[in-house]
Amino acid sequence: MQNDYAISHALHKRASNIIPGGISSNNRANWRPHPLFYKKAQGAHVWDADGNRYLDYVLGRGPLITGHSNPRILDAINRQYQAGQFFAGQTELEVVLAEKIRHLVPGAEMIRFCNSGSEAIHVALRLARSATGREKIIRFEGHYHGWFDNIAWGFSAPEGAVQGNVAQPGDLHENSVPVNNAHGNDVDGNNSRQDNTPIAMSQGQPAGDARNIISLCWNDGDALERVLSSRAHEVAAVVTEPIMFNSFWSNIRPEENYLTRIKTLCDKYHILLIFDEIQTGFRTALGGAQGYYGVTPDITTFAKAMGGPVCLAAVAGKERHMRLLAGAGTLHTGTYNAFPPFLAGAIMNLDILAENGGEALNKIHLLSEALRAGLQDIAGGTALSMQVRASPGAVTTTFRATPAVARDYRTARDGVNQPLVIGWHAALQERGVRITPEGLWYVSTAHSVADIDYTLEQAAAAVRDLEQ
Ligand code: PLP
Repeated sequence: MQNDYAISHALHKRASNIIPGGISSNNRANWRPHPLFYKKAQGAHVWDADGNRYLDYVLGRGPLITGHSNPRILDAINRQYQAGQFFAGQTELEVVLAEKIRHLVPGAEMIRFCNSGSEAIHVALRLARSATGREKIIRFEGHYHGWFDNIAWGFSAPEGAVQGNVAQPGDLHENSVPVNNAHGNDVDGNNSRQDNTPIAMSQGQPAGDARNIISLCWNDGDALERVLSSRAHEVAAVVTEPIMFNSFWSNIRPEENYLTRIKTLCDKYHILLIFDEIQTGFRTALGGAQGYYGVTPDITTFAKAMGGPVCLAAVAGKERHMRLLAGAGTLHTGTYNAFPPFLAGAIMNLDILAENGGEALNKIHLLSEALRAGLQDIAGGTALSMQVRASPGAVTTTFRATPAVARDYRTARDGVNQPLVIGWHAALQERGVRITPEGLWYVSTAHSVADIDYTLEQAAAAVRDLEQ
């Protein structure tokens, strides 16, 4: 190890005495050699507390699509901070942002703002139940829709598990390879049985919530059709990431016509289709994955790239469903909802992405494609079973001892060499390139062609490090 992490190490030790795990979000545990502390960021770079500089492809796990500390966004936020903060009332800013989103996103006839992706999903599920009078939600293995009790149920049961049982919660050990991924399943995965029994992602979840979840294999239209043919009358919504981002091997795309088939089935049975576009929104395309694939859901959730450097999320959807929130019957409140300085930042973030016909997002897509192609070349030149996948604006690398295409959670998990995944992350970090511990790379407007070239040189060297 060349980098010095002494200050981070001391801070993490100090933090661990007062903050559980020394971290404020469990998936920050997986950094090597321990959770790091950071002190500044600019453009495509971040600096840790020890002064190590990284070319950053984590970008806050997706939000910073316009880079760190974008001056135009900071200026917009600061101006609104000066003008006023909390009004417990409306500002024109929320109307302006909602109008921009409606202009860009096919399924966004009306929009409500909240503070995090998990909250947006919570609103979406409530709306679906309110609109249909039904309670069950169909969700897919390996997708992540936030950590709230009523949706953090992801996976079919391991042999012998009882419904509502907790199958090894997200047990992210400090300084060790996690036995469960951040989204709650065991890496060795003994859950080969194809059933619909959901497993809690965490201890402390009420077992009764499992009654309302049906967990299915993704990219399998027949499985969905089978379940709906007998149980549709119980189902309020099908919720899916339109591109699967939250699994061992993210960037798993829907197979041809799969999203259309879900949509057709939902329409047939009067079930609401929810697209969780918290990863894909304003990254895959300005119109989200729904614009990219031409499938319009009933309800959509956004966060991350919608706001850029601000904590902002939204639920958007068909007017007839969204209007339910206007009455007294369907509750959505929040002291911090639609925080004016954050709205101002998000407006500027979307303006930057959309100006000149979406030039900035096009640039991101070109850069991420160059990154994908370069990493693919590196993968082709090593015996380390390195694999690369991508969707516009994001690339995933993994090490997986099977050439079989990953089409869902289980196939993505097959053959993953977790020590190599972790080793790759650590080797890149040592070389000043920062990706998520699972191997996800986000690209921003702040990255340049020279950054990609530099990255590919370092990536080639990191592979050589691993080969030794
Ligand atoms: N949905 C998806 C697809 C996500 O990737 C995430 C977070 O990564 C969430 C929901 C939850 O969002 P948040 O972390 O803002 O609560």
